[in-house]
Amino acid sequence: MERIVLHIDVNSAFLSWSALKLLKEGSKKDIRNEISVVSGREATRNGIIVASSIPAKKKGIRAPMNLRDARKIYRDIIVVHPDYYFYSECSKKLFDYIRSLFEEVEQFSIDECFVEYTPNKKMYGDEVKFAYKLKDTIKKKFGFTVNIGIGNNKLLAKMASDFEKPDKVHTLYTSEIKEKMWPLDISDLFMAGKSSCARLRRLGINTIGDLANYDQNKLHYHMKSMGTMLYEYANGIDNSKVEYRHIERKGIGFSRTLEDDTEDKKILFSYLSDFSTEISNYLKRKNKYCGVIIVTIRYKDFRTYNHQIKLKNNTNSKEEIFKYSKELFNKLWNLESVRLIGLRVTDLSTNNDIQLSLFDDNSKVLKDKEIDKLLDNINDKLGKDIVYKASLINKDK
Ligand SMILES: [Mg+2]
Repeated sequence: MERIVLHIDVNSAFLSWSALKLLKEGSKKDIRNEISVVSGREATRNGIIVASSIPAKKKGIRAPMNLRDARKIYRDIIVVHPDYYFYSECSKKLFDYIRSLFEEVEQFSIDECFVEYTPNKKMYGDEVKFAYKLKDTIKKKFGFTVNIGIGNNKLLAKMASDFEKPDKVHTLYTSEIKEKMWPLDISDLFMAGKSSCARLRRLGINTIGDLANYDQNKLHYHMKSMGTMLYEYANGIDNSKVEYRHIERKGIGFSRTLEDDTEDKKILFSYLSDFSTEISNYLKRKNKYCGVIIVTIRYKDFRTYNHQIKLKNNTNSKEEIFKYSKELFNKLWNLESVRLIGLRVTDLSTNNDIQLSLFDDNSKVLKDKEIDKLLDNINDKLGKDIVYKASLINKDK
């Protein structure tokens, strides 16, 4: 039987989920229909845009643009701040639902997954009809829209879901590659980043079709394994399996696949800062402390690395989590373009006894704890995150 894979992708996920949250809180405006962005706070770290609405994209405003530059394009842009905890709840609900329908589900990022449809075809019938039903059910059940791509492997399904958005089902079967994929610009090919595209264009390759019909040996000569991989993708070749082993989550963490790979440490640190804040808020809500902090970096060729630290003293302080995450990042990073950045904490417990050491400056540890508590109290009274410690402001160091 012919293999069928689905790729399900939430449309402008962070923006949609923020819109949902605002509507839930009683807002009358649906920011999905406005020129709006999700962005960090301008005052603390340059306000990098992490998601933009479709009307904003039409104006040329997209991640990871600086908010100040976006305002030059459109002054009255609506800005909301990210709520990664809420996002991960939305994500979990969606994937729990999809996992209730299929055995083989691979979560690919916070807002996309692959589904191996082949073994279910007998039960669910025609994949296109099913995908339309699934898309509409998700919209009704959760209040946000998805694109579903259908193909004969993961690559084709992923390329298909990226066709016209939002709220659409597209197919890209092997038999449709020539007609639907080859006319596209080379930058539309999965994994073809900025520098790869620039190299390809220098070879006179501008469309996916140009690449598919280029001399494979020449490509390997110019671009090594990256060239071979992109050549295979351009021809719709991808034999990878849907990796569906469910990983049990012992701790809490967040990761973000970047819309454009980046070497900009300021952008990467701004994510770590956001994640630290969310993780700290979560731990404090649950009255928990973490003993291990883990940073993940995925490079553009999908090599993925983790680095972790076992803390001497458990913590739930955002300042401490951010500090360690930066240290871990600096040790891990090889200066290459980053595709995904993640921060996770594990070894959660209710224990925050400080192990005082003969050699450390214990008074500072205790004082930091006091300051943290004080700030939390103030922020509780004034609303979220109005008062920061200066060290939480993202410094590129
Ligand atoms: Mg998406």
